[in-house]
Amino acid sequence: MANPTVENLVIIGSGPAGYTAAIYAGRAHLKPVVFEGFQLGGFPGGQLMTTTEVENFPGFPEGITGPQLMANIKAQAQRWGAQLYTEDAIAVDLSQRPFIIRSQEREVKAHSLIIATGATAKRLGLPSEKQFWNRGISACAICDGVIPMFRGVELVVIGAGDSAAEEAIYLTKYGSLVHLLVRSEKMRASKTMRDRVLHHPKIKVHWYTEAVDVVGKETMTGLQVRNNQTGEESTIAAKGLFYAIGHKPNTDLFQGQLELDKVGYITTKNGGVETSLEGVFAAGDVQDHEFRQAITAAGTGCMAAMLAERWLSAQGLIQEFDLSSPAEIPAETQITEIVTEFNLQITRHEGGHALRKLFHESDRLLVVKYIAPSCSPCHALKPILNKVIDEFDGKIHFVEIDIDKDREIAENAGVIGTPTVQLFKNQELVQEVRGVKQKSEYRQLIESNIS
Ligand SMILES: Cc1cc2nc3c(=O)[nH]c(=O)nc-3n(C[C@H](O)[C@H](O)[C@H](O)COP(=O)(O)OP(=O)(O)OC[C@H]3O[C@@H](n4cnc5c(N)ncnc54)[C@H](O)[C@@H]3O)c2cc1C
Repeated sequence: MANPTVENLVIIGSGPAGYTAAIYAGRAHLKPVVFEGFQLGGFPGGQLMTTTEVENFPGFPEGITGPQLMANIKAQAQRWGAQLYTEDAIAVDLSQRPFIIRSQEREVKAHSLIIATGATAKRLGLPSEKQFWNRGISACAICDGVIPMFRGVELVVIGAGDSAAEEAIYLTKYGSLVHLLVRSEKMRASKTMRDRVLHHPKIKVHWYTEAVDVVGKETMTGLQVRNNQTGEESTIAAKGLFYAIGHKPNTDLFQGQLELDKVGYITTKNGGVETSLEGVFAAGDVQDHEFRQAITAAGTGCMAAMLAERWLSAQGLIQEFDLSSPAEIPAETQITEIVTEFNLQITRHEGGHALRKLFHESDRLLVVKYIAPSCSPCHALKPILNKVIDEFDGKIHFVEIDIDKDREIAENAGVIGTPTVQLFKNQELVQEVRGVKQKSEYRQLIESNIS
C-alpha cells in the first residue's frame, strides 16, 4: 500500500477539532495527515455542515454559516501544510508503535494520533424507518427541509434539545405546520430556544408523545404516535419526519484499544485531551459530553496538537518539515458559487436557464447536479465532483441547479433529496445518483456514458 514512511501525526476527523489540530500541527512543521472522513461518522467538515448560522464562534460579529466557517478552517489547515484525505479511517491498530491507520485507499503509519471523530445523529429504529428513509424521514432538517416534497405540508420533528428546537424553527420556513414530539413534560433546550418554539405560531408541541411508526405507500403520508401517559394512539397527517434525538460518539474504531466511558466517549485525563494511551489524544465531541460546542472542540483540537508536538519532541520522534512560506489556499475550499454567462462551448454552467438550453442544444453528455444551499452533503460533494468534471473538460456539459431557486425544475426532474446527480444523453435520463459517492464512482459513470 502507498506511503511506507512513518508520519509524525495522523488526525482522524475534520470538524472544528480535527482541522484546528491540523492548523496547530501544521504551524509546528509536523505536516499532519488528516483523514477527513467520508460517510462513516458524518460529513467532511463535521456537524457544523448541517447548520445554517453560527452566531457564537468568536471572530464573526455578524455570524457565519456552518459550511463557510468549516471551509475557512479547512483552508487554513491546508495553508499550513496539512495533508488531507477525504476518506474514512476504517481500522486502526494502536497495539504497536508506530500506530497504523487504514482507509480503503491507503495505510499510514504514525508516531502519534489525534482522534477528533465527533458524534453522529441517532436514529429511532421505527419499524418502517428503512422504507421511508429519504422518502419522508430525514436526520437533517437543514439539509432536506428545502426539497419540494416538504413544502406547504405538515412536518414532524422528534426531540427536545437545542437541535430539535432549531430544526423545528427552521422547518417553519417550508412546512405549513411543524409538530414537535416531546416524550416528557419538558424540553431540554436552552430557555431562549424553548421560548422561541413555544411562542411560534407554526409549531405545535405534543408533550408525552412518542412515534410508533410511519405510514404511507411510496412516500410518507402520516406518523402514528402514542401518548405515553394515556396510551392513546393517533395519526398526524405529516409528510416529513425529522430526527433530532441526540448523538452517539464515533468511537467504534477504538473499542478495546482505548479507555471509553459507558456511553462510548473517549476517557481523557484531568479534563484534558490525553487518552489512556501515550501519544494518542482525543479532541472535541468525541470526548466531551458536556459542552459540545464548536469553540470547545477547536480549543481541545489546539491542546491535542500542542501536546502531540511536545510528546513527539520528548520521545525524540519528531521529524520537522520545512515550511518557509504558507501554501496557496486551494480554490476548491471556497464556497463561492460558479456564475457564468451562457456559452455552449464551456463545460460548467449554473441555473435553470442554462439547463434548459443545454438540454436542447448540447450534443455532449449532460451532468446535472441538484443541490440546496444549506445541504451539508452538497458541500462535501462539491470538491469531489469538481475534480471529476475537470477531467472531462470539453467533453461533457455540467450544470448545477439550486433546487431552492429552481423549484419547478427539481419537481419535474423528480428530485427527492439533495445532492442528486443526473446524467442525460440525447435528452434521455440515463443515470441518477443520490448522496455523495467516491470520485471513482462518478468517473466511471461518466466514462461509461460518454460517446
Ligand atoms: C444542528 C447543529 C447546530 C449546531 N450549532 C452550533 C453553533 O451554533 N455553535 C457551536 O459552537 N456549536 C454548534 N453545534 C455543535 C458543534 O457542531 C459541535 O460541537 C462540533 O462540530 C464538534 O466538533 P468536532 O470536531 O468534535 O466533531 P464533528 O463536528 O462531529 O466532526 C467529526 C468529524 O469526524 C469525521 N469522522 C468520523 N468518523 C471518522 C472516521 N472513521 N474516519 C475519518 N473521519 C471520521 C466526520 O466526518 C467529521 O468530519 C451544532 C451542532 C449541530 C448538530
